[in-house]
Amino acid sequence: MTTALVYDPFFLTHQTGHHPENPERLKVIVSALQQDETLWTRLRHLSPRQVSDDDIMRCHSFRLIDQIKSLCERNVPFVDLDTAICAQSFDVAKLAAGAATVAVDEVFDDTRNAIALVRPPGHHATSNRAMGFCLFNNVAIAARYAQVHYGADRVLIIDWDVHHGNGTQEIFYHDPSVFYLSTHQYPYYPGTGSATERGLDKGEGTTLNIPLSEGTSADAHREAFTAALKAIEKHFPPDLIIISAGFDSRRGDPLGGLMLEDADFDEMTKQVMDMADRHSAGRVVSVLEGGYNLDTLGETVRTHVTALAS
Ligand SMILES: [Zn+2]
Repeated sequence: MTTALVYDPFFLTHQTGHHPENPERLKVIVSALQQDETLWTRLRHLSPRQVSDDDIMRCHSFRLIDQIKSLCERNVPFVDLDTAICAQSFDVAKLAAGAATVAVDEVFDDTRNAIALVRPPGHHATSNRAMGFCLFNNVAIAARYAQVHYGADRVLIIDWDVHHGNGTQEIFYHDPSVFYLSTHQYPYYPGTGSATERGLDKGEGTTLNIPLSEGTSADAHREAFTAALKAIEKHFPPDLIIISAGFDSRRGDPLGGLMLEDADFDEMTKQVMDMADRHSAGRVVSVLEGGYNLDTLGETVRTHVTALAS
């Protein structure tokens, strides 16, 4: 029963210029993990592979794939005002989504849980649109992949990034087989994520948004998170839990106004693992989303991975 780490230095070649979502983020994370020799040697280290177009197209239109490919081939530097790209970004984005699927393979084999340290992040990417630093929706692709390749009937996506994952919500809004839980600062970018957005049609009730005002205390934030997990567990015992692991909800992030500390991420990670132990043979896949404070990001992720490996 081990924890797998899926990472590739190719993720550093997604060059975004002067931008908060830049390669230094992964450098400080990997450095913090490597400095913890006990942890680093306990992890099962894996390289990702590129995701197939078929796996992407379970979540995104062919038009979006074609658009990103074409922009990168022409070396256009932006998808939109927020979302910078370079010539390699199409291939890097396919490797990022592929890393999430490799993590799924691992947890359905004999690895207990897995973390994919990737960029670009994914949770803002909708079925038709790249936005908010995101090209393809890594966690959504991983959820569908688990359903198709491993018969996971119920996948729970837990998104604790400071921003609402509008893309993930949109992709599964009508789908009762994937539950989307998000705690996020609200009102805030991208504008979605009110408590009244609960899913539609057969998917009504399998979207749960916990909007939090700027400056919400860490205790109140964590209590809301715990209560949400309890409520979900009664009606939706998951076969797999995927964490949209954004660390811009930590206190001091330049892009966020929430107050979580590293100890809160430790506690939240353990709560998710306990739920996975009860329902999904411990299967948790964590996929990096945001987190932009380079002074604290490495230690926060180290805390999260230490909990996963505990
Ligand atoms: Zn974010």
